[in-house]
Amino acid sequence: MNDNLDPLFKPRAVALIGASVKELSIGNVIIKNLLHYKFNGPLYPINPKVDEIRGLKAYHSILDVPGEVDLAHIVIPPPFVPDEVENCGKKGIKAIIINTAGFKEMGAEGQALEDDSLARARKYGIRIVGPNCQGIINSDPMINAYCNFTFTYPEPGYISVVAQSGGVGAVIMQAFYDMGIGQRMYASNGNGSDVSITEIISYYGNDDGTRAIVLYAESMDNPHEFITEAKKVTARKPILAITAGRTDKGAEASRSHIGGLAGSISMDLIYKKAGILTFNSQEDLCHAAVALSSQPVPKGNNVGIITNTGGPSVIAIDELVNCGLEIPPLSEKAAETLKETMLKSASIRNPLDVVATAGPEQFKSALEVMMNEPQFDSIYMNFVTPPFVDCENVAREIAATAKAGGKPIVCNYMTDKQKWSGTSRILKEGEIPCFDFAETAARALASMVRYNGIRSAKEGTIKTFTDVDKDAVRSILDKAVTQKREILTAAEVYGILEAYRVPVAPWKVVADLNEVVTTASAIGFPVVIKADSEKIIHKSDVGGVAVNIQDAQEAVKIAETMSRNFGDGIKFFVQKFLPNEQELIIGAKAVEGVGHIIMFGLGGIFVEILKDVAFTITPVSDTEAMEMISSIQAAPLIEGFRGEKGINKKKAVEIIQRISMLGTDFPEIKELDLNPLFATGDEICVVDARIIR
Ligand code: ADP
Ligand code: MG
Repeated sequence: MNDNLDPLFKPRAVALIGASVKELSIGNVIIKNLLHYKFNGPLYPINPKVDEIRGLKAYHSILDVPGEVDLAHIVIPPPFVPDEVENCGKKGIKAIIINTAGFKEMGAEGQALEDDSLARARKYGIRIVGPNCQGIINSDPMINAYCNFTFTYPEPGYISVVAQSGGVGAVIMQAFYDMGIGQRMYASNGNGSDVSITEIISYYGNDDGTRAIVLYAESMDNPHEFITEAKKVTARKPILAITAGRTDKGAEASRSHIGGLAGSISMDLIYKKAGILTFNSQEDLCHAAVALSSQPVPKGNNVGIITNTGGPSVIAIDELVNCGLEIPPLSEKAAETLKETMLKSASIRNPLDVVATAGPEQFKSALEVMMNEPQFDSIYMNFVTPPFVDCENVAREIAATAKAGGKPIVCNYMTDKQKWSGTSRILKEGEIPCFDFAETAARALASMVRYNGIRSAKEGTIKTFTDVDKDAVRSILDKAVTQKREILTAAEVYGILEAYRVPVAPWKVVADLNEVVTTASAIGFPVVIKADSEKIIHKSDVGGVAVNIQDAQEAVKIAETMSRNFGDGIKFFVQKFLPNEQELIIGAKAVEGVGHIIMFGLGGIFVEILKDVAFTITPVSDTEAMEMISSIQAAPLIEGFRGEKGINKKKAVEIIQRISMLGTDFPEIKELDLNPLFATGDEICVVDARIIR
C-alpha cells in the first residue's frame, strides 16, 4: 500500500470523471471550485459526450488524457465506478476521490461495489478517499487544490481539518472563514473505505505548515492504531476534537456496573488516551484552534492581565479562575517600572488597568513588563478601541511586543471591525488571536493551558507483573468455555483474582450446609455468608448476603434460611467479615478494537446514584491510574479529610494495573466488576467480584 498521501493533497493534475455541463451538479461544481481556487495545474473534465466544460477541453475517457494525472474525482453512479477505478489504474493515477454516494451505507449491493472498487485500486496502488465523501482542500498557494464540492474558499492558514462528517467539517470551515482565520488543509473521507482518519492525522502531523489539527469523528475502525499514531502527533502539535456520540444509550440494564456505565463513552476515552484536546462545543474548539495555531504554548497556568476597560476584566477573571487558571500579583520591581510608564489614573497590579486613554507607549510598556515577569506564563488582554486613541499604533505595539516577548497572548478585541479595519488588520497580521467576548478569549487561553498539561504530562509506566499465574487463569476460563458458562462461579472469580495477586478477603465455597460452620471457624468469626449461584446476580437484593455473623449458631441459622429460600442446589460462599472505612469499585469492560476500559470509583451511592466514576483504556500506566483516582468528584474522600488518613493510593494503583494486565492477557474477559473493595487502614481488599467472559 502506498502510504504517501502527497498525490491526494498535493496533486499536480486533476481529472474529474463524470464532469457535467449542468451547473447544479457535483460534476460541474467541483470544476468551478478548482477554477475559482486557481488550482495550480491542468484540469481534465471527463465526459463521453461533451467536448468542453466551463471553457476547459473535456475528454471522452480518462485514457484519452494526454498528460500525467495524480488525482481523479469519480462522481458517476456506483455501478460504473469499479470500471473507472480500473481505467484510472491503467492511466497511472495515484489517488481517487469517490464523491458518489450509494455504497456501503446503502446495504449489501453497495458494499460489494465499494469492495470491488477498493480491490481494483489496491491492484494499482491507488489510494481512495470515500466513497460518499466531499474530498480534500489544500490552500497552499503552490497547490490551491479545491477538490471538494463545498462552498467556503479558505484563505491560506495553519489549521488543518479532518472530518468524518462533511456537514460538521463544512460548518467548522465556515466558522474559521467568518473569523477571518485561514486554513491549511481539509479532508472529509465519508465511508473511509481506504484512506483513514488516522492516516490523514499523521499526514497533517508531518506537514510543517499545519500548526493545529481539528478532528471530527463518530467512530474509529482501528482505535488502537489511531491512539498510537495520534499520540505521536499530539506530542508535537495539538489535535482538537469534538466529542460526539456521548448520549447515555449504553447505560441500559446490565449484568455488571461497568457494563452499564461504560456504554457509549469510548470516543472520549480514545481521545484522552491519544492526548487529544476534547471539546463539547464546536465554537470553543474553533476559538482554541485559532489561539493554538497562532501563539506559542503557555508553560503553566499563571496569567497576567492587561486591560483598558474595567468590566470585561471582571468577567475575564471569573472565567479564567473558573477554568483553573491563576492570576498571581505583579512583582514590586515591575510595579516600580510601570509607575514610571503608565498614565496617572492607571491601576498598577494584576490585572493591570492601563485605562482607556492609554496610547501606544503605555501598551508597549505594559506588555513588555508583563512578558518579562517570570511568574506569568501567558497574557490575557482586553482591548477596546477608544476613538480618542491612536489604535493602529497601539495594535502595532501589541503585535511587535507580543512577538518579541515570546509568551502566548489572547485578546478580547472590542470594536467596530469595519470602522477600525486598519487596527483589525494589524492585529490579524501580527497573529494576535482576537475574540469578541472576554469569556471566549479566557476559554481559548484555558484550552492552550490544557494542551500544555497534556504535552508535558509524564508518560508513566505500564507495569508487567511477573508474580501472576497465567496458566491458572487460562484453565479456569477454558473450563467455563467447555461448559458454555458465561458468568463465572464465585470460586472461579476469586481463583482468577488470586492468580493475579489481587488482594481478596479470605473465602471458601461449600456445597454442604453442615460444612458451613467448620469453614466459618477455620476462616475465623465474624464471617459473611453469601448465596452462590449463577442465577443470582445482585445477591443482597434477594437476601443472598448475610454480614457480620458472630458465631456457629447464627451461621447455621443463616445457611438454613438461604437453602430454604434458594433451594437445595445453592452453594454457600463463606467469607471473612471485614471492617470497612471506604468502599471502592474497580471494573473492566472489553471494547472491540480498543482493549478494555477500566473504571474506578467509590462504591455505594457514589457509583449507584452519582455515577462518580473515572475511566481509562488499557494498558493503564501508573500515572493514568493515579489520575483516575484523583479525577473523581469524591476524590477528597480518598485523599482523607478532617484528620482522616485517606486510602492507600499506591495499593489502589497497583490493583488497577493488575486488573489492566489481566484484561490485556485475557481479552476474552468481557466484564469484570470488583464491587466493592474495602479500603481499611493501609489495606485494600476485594469483598465481592463478578466476571463475565
Ligand atoms: P451483591 O453485590 O451481589 O449484592 P456483595 O457481596 O457485594 O453482594 O454484598 C453486599 C454488601 O455487603 C457489600 O456491598 C458490602 O457492603 C457488604 N459485604 C459483603 N462482603 C463483605 C465482607 N466480607 N465484609 C464486610 N462486608 C461485606
Ligand atoms: Mg457487590
